[in-house]
Amino acid sequence: MSWQFDPVGIIHSCFAEKFAIPRQPLLAPAATASLELLPPYNQPEALEGLEGVSHLWLIFVFHAAASGPQHLRVRPPRLGGNQRIGVFASRATHRPNPIGQSVVRLEGIEQNRLLLSGVDLLDGTPVLDIKPYVPYADCIEDAVNPLAPIPPHALPVSWSDAALAQAQAHQTRLGQPLVALIEQCLSQDPKPAYQQPGPEREYGVTLWDVNVRWHYPQPDRIRVLEVSQPQ
Ligand code: SAM
Repeated sequence: MSWQFDPVGIIHSCFAEKFAIPRQPLLAPAATASLELLPPYNQPEALEGLEGVSHLWLIFVFHAAASGPQHLRVRPPRLGGNQRIGVFASRATHRPNPIGQSVVRLEGIEQNRLLLSGVDLLDGTPVLDIKPYVPYADCIEDAVNPLAPIPPHALPVSWSDAALAQAQAHQTRLGQPLVALIEQCLSQDPKPAYQQPGPEREYGVTLWDVNVRWHYPQPDRIRVLEVSQPQ
């Protein structure tokens, strides 16, 4: 048996690349996106009843996941990249069918697009379906997962004076909460868990259209060095 699915929409998000995207939604509330609905779902009828709904489930394609042979076990970054667990015990992007699911906040509804925050989705992600979050059914108070019992530890993020001024200027230009976005994403410590960089090593990522550079002055601290627009 096989099925073919067509996207109902495309994500336009702050994440121009996979690096530094939080591992789950809502970890970076300042991560915003719009979901452009595609015909025939770009009509108001398809959105009737969503007014007042605070959160949505998005079912989407990991369209930029590396292809390759399927494995029964994976090494999730959260476990340091060394420990293997069954693919069905993980949220890894490399999975039998490259399908992801994320709960995101619905900030607003425009003609043919949904305004979202708290996303963990790469720009250009195809969305297969949208479902309203149903608190009584989707929020399970006694749910247990020993592999991911609590949110990941957040590292403190500090700024050089110049980088903060640059980020504030780009925040105004973009009309987006860029300072909070950078702090929320970097505090998740995007670098691979096995790397233990010295203070001289710099890292970079593109958020919206700006390049953010940082380093680790101490192993468990992040300092933003520069926020610039590529020429
Ligand atoms: N919340 C989803 C889930 O549980 O199915 C995604 C979890 S997955 C661990 C999150 C990671 O997927 C992000 O850190 C990002 O690097 C990656 N990602 C997001 N959108 C993607 C896309 N369209 N293609 C490939 N990888 C993507």
